[in-house]
Amino acid sequence: MRPSSILTVGFVLLCGLATSQAAIAAPSPTPTASAPVTPTPTPTGTQDNNDPPDEVKAPPVSTLAAPSLQMPFPCNQSWTGNSSNSSAHRSYELDWNRGNTADADRGDTVVAAAAGTVVISSHQGSVNGFGNLVKIDHGGGWTTFYAHLTVRSVAVGAKVTQGQKIGTVGNTSKPGNNISPHLHFELRQGSSYPSNLRKAAFNGKTFGYPNQTLTSKNKCGGGGTPTNPHTAQSVCGSGFKVINSAALGTAGNVYLLYNSANGNNCVATIKKTNLGKATATSAYLEVKGKPRTTDSGSFTYYAGPVKAAAADKCVKWGGKIGSSAHDSAFEHCS
Ligand SMILES: [Zn+2]
Repeated sequence: MRPSSILTVGFVLLCGLATSQAAIAAPSPTPTASAPVTPTPTPTGTQDNNDPPDEVKAPPVSTLAAPSLQMPFPCNQSWTGNSSNSSAHRSYELDWNRGNTADADRGDTVVAAAAGTVVISSHQGSVNGFGNLVKIDHGGGWTTFYAHLTVRSVAVGAKVTQGQKIGTVGNTSKPGNNISPHLHFELRQGSSYPSNLRKAAFNGKTFGYPNQTLTSKNKCGGGGTPTNPHTAQSVCGSGFKVINSAALGTAGNVYLLYNSANGNNCVATIKKTNLGKATATSAYLEVKGKPRTTDSGSFTYYAGPVKAAAADKCVKWGGKIGSSAHDSAFEHCS
């Protein structure tokens, strides 16, 4: 079907680099020693990424805890991620491929790297190079992007769990962009591209930029990492947005949220470990001049929500999982 020389280079190109020098420098995900790297016609018009509209407005707070990501593929699948293969890439954007041919991963399942809410599910047309794009909001200004999909299987507004199928790998892009199938993945915090791009950590380990082959632990039964189906936003309810957060060691995070519609704050402590097992967990909120409200007990997934009206009032907030605690000063006064 395909001339092998084109096939190999096309595969290495992934996103579609414009120079053969960079194509040679890019590592092939497969150890095919006999792979001919002949100077073949390079794809044209291969920019695969520009900034899409970003509707998540988050405060410029660098301490907001990142979502605990797993690879965007089903359990036990091995994929190679590459951040340096595409000239369109800025810092930590990743192209994922697997298999021995350029087309090998077309149609493969793409899953959510973490739980969240779908905020974009559409073809980007000629606005940018993403083609069929799914963007998931994980709270706290953190989002993940899944681009070039053949099929998008979630709609805007859908709540997705970690490991849930959101689409399939493809090579959709803007008109005239000829790229080979791959998953373009990004983790962002905040809204000013490209300074909002963040290093991704999968299964607790920072990705080995610029390229690394990893085995997915996403939604692995038993031996994998179980994930908390609850988020601070789902616990506090619609209208609440995360405005601050703190890590409770490695056991979880405590979040402070605010609902601008009714001036209420909300605090929730979300566990990352001992999920489904009742362990000591608490969350509290104290509006200045009023008594503290605490939700404390043996909880399987989270503590809270603790809510109080606090528009224009300073609050203390915090929580505890086991012996790991966070206690704020009075802050967020307006
Ligand atoms: Zn890419």
